[in-house]
Order: sequence, then structure tokens, then C-alpha cells
Amino acid sequence: MTQLWPTIDFEDFFNRKVKTQGYYNPGFDTWQMLQCTSDGWRKETESVANNRMLLSIHHPYVVPWKSLGRDQSSNFLDPNQAARSTSLQWLTDSVSRAKEQNAQFVLTHLTHGSGKPTPEQAENLASRSVESIARISESFNMPIHIEYLGYHPSFHLPEKFISALEDYPNLGLCLDTGHLNRWAQIHNMDPYQAASKLSPLIESVHLWNTSSNLEYRHYGHVPVHNSIDGVNGYISVERILQTIAPAKHPITIIFEPSIHSKVEEAFITEGMLWIKHLWTNLQDHAND
Ligand SMILES: [Zn+2]
Repeated sequence: MTQLWPTIDFEDFFNRKVKTQGYYNPGFDTWQMLQCTSDGWRKETESVANNRMLLSIHHPYVVPWKSLGRDQSSNFLDPNQAARSTSLQWLTDSVSRAKEQNAQFVLTHLTHGSGKPTPEQAENLASRSVESIARISESFNMPIHIEYLGYHPSFHLPEKFISALEDYPNLGLCLDTGHLNRWAQIHNMDPYQAASKLSPLIESVHLWNTSSNLEYRHYGHVPVHNSIDGVNGYISVERILQTIAPAKHPITIIFEPSIHSKVEEAFITEGMLWIKHLWTNLQDHAND
């Protein structure tokens, strides 16, 4: 048995991710659990649980839910009221299970299904849905993080996410370095400036890299690693972390590598150790 990270068995990590069921992403003293089965979710989570690590939940926690697939779990920007309401009910279910498991927070995306909102609709729907998400968070006393995604044609600028989220202290933003790089490539924007603007709201970070849409489609989330950082279209994760580290609040770091036959444990582990070293140094300086 090899060890990807203290207490993490790589074979188990690999097998769960390949199945995309009851799997997790590791972090520093924390892990993120997602897509468990409706019969086995408690067991699937408890078998990874370790009392030295904090748990967070990536919505949807249980799939399928009421025979719905994952793509119906986060349609908070969908003009179809029924689609939004289903997603809100599903999120409530994830939060209630997360509460039972003593999770630290729940994370969700804001997406839409087949109904595509116009630019004006998108902002309006975002602010209405975020208000409903904040209510769920309050009623369970469970923080909810919203992941920054830049794929929507109008609702993608940092300013839009800031104005949707800033009034809710129980909601946080999750900055995902791979999605941030895709946003910068799609819209020809500066990802470092965006990270700086968003940093007051950032409470968690997802780490992976990609150089292009083609690579993203073929290989998904390339593990972060010093050897590719900031070159050939890859984002500099180091620069992103330097940008957000001065924040006065704690930030949860989660690694989100895709797993397939070409991804090696050594590459993932080296990348994680590199980030650990980097982040520890940045935290030490931030506390100076
Ligand atoms: Zn992510």
C-alpha cells in the first residue's frame, strides 16, 4: 500500500475517483467528499474519516437523488423555476447530511441546465438563488461556499460574484485555479487580477491546472506541479497563492486532480508537497 498523503491510501483514492462514486479530494488536514450512493453515503464517508482531518462536502453529496443525475443538482441560474427549486431542495438535502457528518462547509456551483438565461436574467437569478442558498446555510448553521466559474457568457466577472455574495457572511467563495485559468483564456482576462479582486471572499481553493480547452477535455484536471507552473498556457498556481495568502481569514486548500492511467502518484505527491511548502511559507509571512 502506498501513501499519497498522510493517512491516504493511493489505491483506494484512485479506485474511488475512477468510479466517480463516493470519492474524495484531499487537502491539508482536510478532505472533500462527493457523489456518494444513497444507500452507502455514511459508510463511504466514514471509511475515509480520520479524526485529525476536517470534512467538507461538495454538493451533490448523494447521486442519484430522487432518480436525478448530477447535472440537475446546481441549476441555480436556470430560467426554469422548477429546475432551480429542485436544485435548492437537493442542496438542502446535501447540507442536512453534511450537518449530520459534522462537516465544516458545503460547496456548490451556480450553473444552468437546458434553459439558458439571458445576460440580464443571469444576474437576477444569481442574486435570487444566492439569497435562497444563504437561507439554507443559516437554517442549518452550515457555511456554504460558491465556486467561481467563468463559463457563463454574462455572469462570469469577479465583480458579479462579489456583488452576489458580499452581503452574506455565512457564504464564501471557492477559487478553483483550473476554472480560473479557463475563464482567463475564454474571456482574455488576467487571472491574477481576478484572484486579487476576489480574495476578500475566498474561503477555499481548489487546485489543479490545465493549459487549454483541448487538454481540459482530454485529461480533465492536471495535477498541480512545479514543473508546469505558469508555463505553456498553464496558470501559475504559485502566483495565485501569493496573491490570496495575505487574507486575514483561514483558507481551506483542496487538491482536485483527475485520475486516469497517465496520472502517477509521484507527480501528484510532489505537487502536493511543493504546495504545502509554499503555503506554509506564505502563511508564516502573512502572520509576520
Ligand atoms: Zn473545483
